[in-house]
Amino acid sequence: MSVDYQALAVAGVQALSPYQPGKPIEELAREFGLDPEGIVKLASNENPLGPSPVALAAARQALDELCRYPDGNGFSLKSRLADRLGVSPEQLTLGNGSNDILEVIARCFADARAEVVYSQYAFAIYPLVTQAIGAKGVCVPAKGWGHDLDAMAAAVTERTKLIFIANPNNPTGTVHDAEAVEAFMEQLPSRVLVVLDEAYCEYLEDREGDSVRWLARFPNLIITRTFSKAWGLAALRVGYSVSSAAIADILNRVRQPFNVDSIALAAATAVLDDEDYLQRSRAANDAGMAQLEQGFKALNLDFIPSAGNFIAVEVGDRAGDIYQALLAQGVIVRPIAGYGMPRHLRVSIGLAEENQRLLDALTVALGQVDQGALGG
Ligand SMILES: *Cc1c(COP(=O)(O)O)cnc(C)c1O
Repeated sequence: MSVDYQALAVAGVQALSPYQPGKPIEELAREFGLDPEGIVKLASNENPLGPSPVALAAARQALDELCRYPDGNGFSLKSRLADRLGVSPEQLTLGNGSNDILEVIARCFADARAEVVYSQYAFAIYPLVTQAIGAKGVCVPAKGWGHDLDAMAAAVTERTKLIFIANPNNPTGTVHDAEAVEAFMEQLPSRVLVVLDEAYCEYLEDREGDSVRWLARFPNLIITRTFSKAWGLAALRVGYSVSSAAIADILNRVRQPFNVDSIALAAATAVLDDEDYLQRSRAANDAGMAQLEQGFKALNLDFIPSAGNFIAVEVGDRAGDIYQALLAQGVIVRPIAGYGMPRHLRVSIGLAEENQRLLDALTVALGQVDQGALGG
């Protein structure tokens, strides 16, 4: 008798579609017979500067101890972060990327009877982790392209356990200022946990401290951050949350005991001392953002002003074909039809020459669409 093993999966998982990552450079090189060296990847919001030399040196040193388990409590990284953020180490939870933490939070605080609130166009991981645990996702229509915070507060019921807020949001780049987030928190019952996902906060001048200061007033707040973006360590998978010590204690029970490896711990701890790298990340991002905005304007393309290290540009009905035409020219961007944005492409901010490659390739692709030279 044959068994349908997929039917054995729990209901939420059966209905799940996997997260769609940006196309890796090696894969495009294989598919199109291109030289990987000539490929520009602006698809995963990676830091175009390459890793910090300070982080690299620490990672290399950690290699000598590969036979040992990592420090499961992440003592050094937590101490260093606690100093930087003005919190106690007991308030910190480390994750294998902040995605890990987002998933652990959902598993700790929501179940099949729970409702989890997030916004239309918000980061794809929120509905994914919600569905995986069989909770009910409540997707609140966006306002403009951003979160409608009042509508999200109004969507809270007695079943609501969690609210996810991405600030800035990926893939739209929209951001709410500190006053708006504070006013939102004030509207909520304190039994509802709010996950404030600040993966891009280091790109904003002076925003690293704002939300951390609110923790004293809003014990239902969980802030998540990452070393993947402005700190340039995406491959190592390290992120963290800041919360009350009570919430951190719960998260700590469920996370994998060694969820952050020793190379990641060493590099992340070291990079926090490389303030110069962070400043260079921010400066390169500001310059690249201005370059792309100007380029899009010259091409008569609308875009959504972004506070992240990426920008969503509206290329029209043929976005899928334009994405393909860019691939053929060795430029990888991110289609976001899966987010309900079929007319946009998301472009990560690259170095000046990478941004120029994108703009040149986009000019060619738009010309091909106009001439009916593209399939579809
Ligand atoms: C990139 C990103 C993350 C971080 O992912 P990591 O798992 O830390 O690499 C989290 N939230 C949003 C909105 C992001 O765009």
